[in-house]
Amino acid sequence: MQEFWWKLTTPMILVAFAALIIWGVFSFALAVVFTLFVLLLVMGLHARQLYRLGQWLSNPLLQTIPSAGGIWNEVYSRLYKMVKRHNQTKQELAAELQHIEQATAALPEGVAILGTGHRIEWCNPLAQAHFGLDPQFDIRQDITYLVRQPEFITYLQQRDFRDPLVMRPSRHQEMVLSIKLVPYGEDKHLLISRDITQLERIEAMRRDFVANVSHELRTPLTVVNGFVENLRDMPDIDRADAQRALQLVAEQTARMENLVSDLLSLSRLENDQSPMREEDIDVAVLLHGIAEDGRALSAGRHTLHEVVAAGIKLRGNPDAIRSAFGNLLTNAIRYTPAGGDIWLRWELRGEQVIYAVQDSGIGIAPQHIPRLTERFYRVDRSRSRETGGTGLGLAIVKHIAMRHQAQLEITSEEGKGSTFSLTFPARRVTR
Ligand code: ADP
Repeated sequence: MQEFWWKLTTPMILVAFAALIIWGVFSFALAVVFTLFVLLLVMGLHARQLYRLGQWLSNPLLQTIPSAGGIWNEVYSRLYKMVKRHNQTKQELAAELQHIEQATAALPEGVAILGTGHRIEWCNPLAQAHFGLDPQFDIRQDITYLVRQPEFITYLQQRDFRDPLVMRPSRHQEMVLSIKLVPYGEDKHLLISRDITQLERIEAMRRDFVANVSHELRTPLTVVNGFVENLRDMPDIDRADAQRALQLVAEQTARMENLVSDLLSLSRLENDQSPMREEDIDVAVLLHGIAEDGRALSAGRHTLHEVVAAGIKLRGNPDAIRSAFGNLLTNAIRYTPAGGDIWLRWELRGEQVIYAVQDSGIGIAPQHIPRLTERFYRVDRSRSRETGGTGLGLAIVKHIAMRHQAQLEITSEEGKGSTFSLTFPARRVTR
């Protein structure tokens, strides 16, 4: 600061001193003329610098800051420092803003700031995706003009936001959103949206599952109940009729037992994530046993062919593999009319190994194939039930395949037959 005053006053002192000398040596008038001349010169110089400063201020870049001597050097160097500091702060703020933007973009929820009149002040990319907003055009717009569903508008207008609103946005009907409004500051709100499509799907599956299980159990229970009531109400029923009734009761209880056993297997496979007990399974021996069971079930109605590559073992859980392999063969027998052929194959394909069951049975129309592994999905309900099916077999097979990193593939042609194959990765093959 002191330097500044020195630079400002030194020239004035020098001029006054020179004027005094001129007055002493020449005359007072010459001293006044000299002083006026110097003052005019100084004013001119200052006017030029003010003009340069004015020009620079219209586009104040650090690189183009003017330079000059004397007091203006001091002014410009201070301006230089100020602009540099300002630029630095701007850069720091921009970096901070970018940081916050990155953090909000990474948020797993949509966030929008609504100001007075529900105008959108800011929104992160997920909120844009959830409500189909375009930040270029929609910022400062009332969100109720853009999201027009009545339930959304009613939710925004109410005062109690403790419970979230669950809705399907009109621009993404397949999506389910949970929306929450959080008031803050003066007439401001945070609009938080969460995509709960997956959760809703799981919840719907759970509801379907409970409904399916109840439905599956109701029919055999009604039958059993009917027979038990009949037997109770007819104490004089003859022995043969009673035997027939008990036989039917036994069939229905066996059906319920199968269902419960499949349900337990499925729940164990779904819930137990601990590593399975594994060993090298001699598939040739295992397949022979399965084929024998299959022949017993078929009771001579089908011809079973075994095409088994010898000496190729499979690393896996023997109980699970037996259940999956057996299940596919049982299905082939159940869905192949008498006189049909069934092939059991265990073969190498490149590094991988394939278990396949091919039948010449009723086949499956293409639209059903992608859904066959869903729990309780059946092409023909009555045929499945008549042959003792629970509708859970392929769901169990799929889980077992997944736990062995195997691929379940289904190819079929209606009226001609089907092939169900399990392809195991090379690392599960041992010799
Ligand atoms: P289910 O106990 O009903 O057989 P699965 O889960 O084992 O249940 O099979 C689901 C459905 O897939 C069956 O109901 C049947 O319609 C069809 N399916 C399975 N295997 C075959 C096959 N080999 N041939 C024709 N249809 C089959």
